[in-house]
Amino acid sequence: MQVTYRFKLYPSSAQSTRLSEWQSKIRSLLNVCLADRIDTYHDSFKQGEFCNLRSKGVATPLTCSVNKSASKGEFWKEDNPPHRRGNKNKNGHIKLTGKPRQSCPPFNPRRSSFEIHSSFSTNWRQTKPWYEDVSSDVLQQALRHQDKAFNNFFSGRAKFPRFKKTRDIGIEFKPGTVKIQGNRIKFPKLGWMKFAKSRNIGDNWEIRTVTITLDIEDWYVSVLLRDRTIPDYCPKVEDELNTIIGCDVGIKKIAAFSTSETIPNPNISKKLERRLRIRQKRLSRKKKGSNNWKKAGKVVAKVHRDIRRRRQDFQWKLGKKIASMADVISFEALNIQGMKRRCKPKLCPETGRYLRNNQKAKSQLNKAISDAAWYSLRQKTKHQAAKLGNWVIEVNPRGSSQECHQCGYVSPKNRDKEKFVCENCSHHEDADTQAGCVLAQRGKEKLGIDTLRVVSPKVTTKSESTDSPKRKLSPTLVSESGNPNKIKYIQLELLDFKEWETR
Ligand SMILES: [Zn+2]
Repeated sequence: MQVTYRFKLYPSSAQSTRLSEWQSKIRSLLNVCLADRIDTYHDSFKQGEFCNLRSKGVATPLTCSVNKSASKGEFWKEDNPPHRRGNKNKNGHIKLTGKPRQSCPPFNPRRSSFEIHSSFSTNWRQTKPWYEDVSSDVLQQALRHQDKAFNNFFSGRAKFPRFKKTRDIGIEFKPGTVKIQGNRIKFPKLGWMKFAKSRNIGDNWEIRTVTITLDIEDWYVSVLLRDRTIPDYCPKVEDELNTIIGCDVGIKKIAAFSTSETIPNPNISKKLERRLRIRQKRLSRKKKGSNNWKKAGKVVAKVHRDIRRRRQDFQWKLGKKIASMADVISFEALNIQGMKRRCKPKLCPETGRYLRNNQKAKSQLNKAISDAAWYSLRQKTKHQAAKLGNWVIEVNPRGSSQECHQCGYVSPKNRDKEKFVCENCSHHEDADTQAGCVLAQRGKEKLGIDTLRVVSPKVTTKSESTDSPKRKLSPTLVSESGNPNKIKYIQLELLDFKEWETR
């Protein structure tokens, strides 16, 4: 099993300066390589008779770019049989004796984009003496991540890689290069540093990649740990699933369950809205680029961090609670991006001017949607559920607040704000609880397990309603159908009658 722990790091002031310098150096290498990738790509379309537009190299088979996504660095590599992938053990050590494995692919002298840039980083370090200070592993790891970012982009999983800012750079060390002793940690070239050991690391845990990141002014270290003897969390098999609940997310109530339990929205960003506004105003009065401006910027960033941390704390706790409520948790698959989309502009056909389209009101709603952060709540619930072996599923949310879970009748008239009254079978309930029940039922249908029990509040059905003591008072009520509007009317009538009697 693998886990990541994040600790606060306490470098000395000299180490802290060096870390900032490292970040800056990694950033410049990464951005040069990213620019190279972009340029090479464009050159491949418009180069015409040139191989490289800048150097105006003429296209010949010898100088023509080998790789269409990288032009800096060495394109060809020499064959070094012992270092080939097939000739390495499981531990990565080179096998010095014995034949190479059959699965070993034939040697390809062409370098991949990552390998070209990796060789470029070696040259870069040699020509720039101030790079001596930086560990070459760290540069390689950064380039490896950039290569991964490109692969993710081309396979449609991510957006195009962006040019980085110094503060966004994480310093990643390769597995086996970092040592931990008590509350001290040793990095190559940087030496020992103290860290806040907020959680215990078992003796058997093997330290994998270690990453140092900057959060405003504070340094943090993420340690990836692995223990092969501990198995991963395994989800429950279908036979073990007994209960299912539906979770309806919203603005006023961040979560409403089919069990009739509701969680109010803590409105975290609203609580700190005033503080944020004041500090942003202070920042706006400072001269851009000045030291005071930078200081004020950090103060604003800290408010944002405070909001983020409060929200995360709330969501982790709530996620854990939701995850342990039932064996299966059914969420609605909301299109949050679509919900936050801008209103269409309204054009007046006569004057050609733009009319009001209610975007102002919508932007407030968008703010509330962003603050609620339903997606990250779902992700955290998934994480916690995985630990317990429980399932988290997503179902189609269409019409979930208008459908009656008793009879399946769908109508927008069923719902009146927070009340839900079915027009068909007169079933009435809190609208959010009712939506949770619908989601739970949809989840049950999606999974196709008949033995699943939907955890819902005890519903008053017609047969039960006749037994309830309240309704026994009036014989007319028993004979009436369960339409609550009518019941109200009759009760009023009875009251009038009583009053009339006493007179
Ligand atoms: Zn109904």
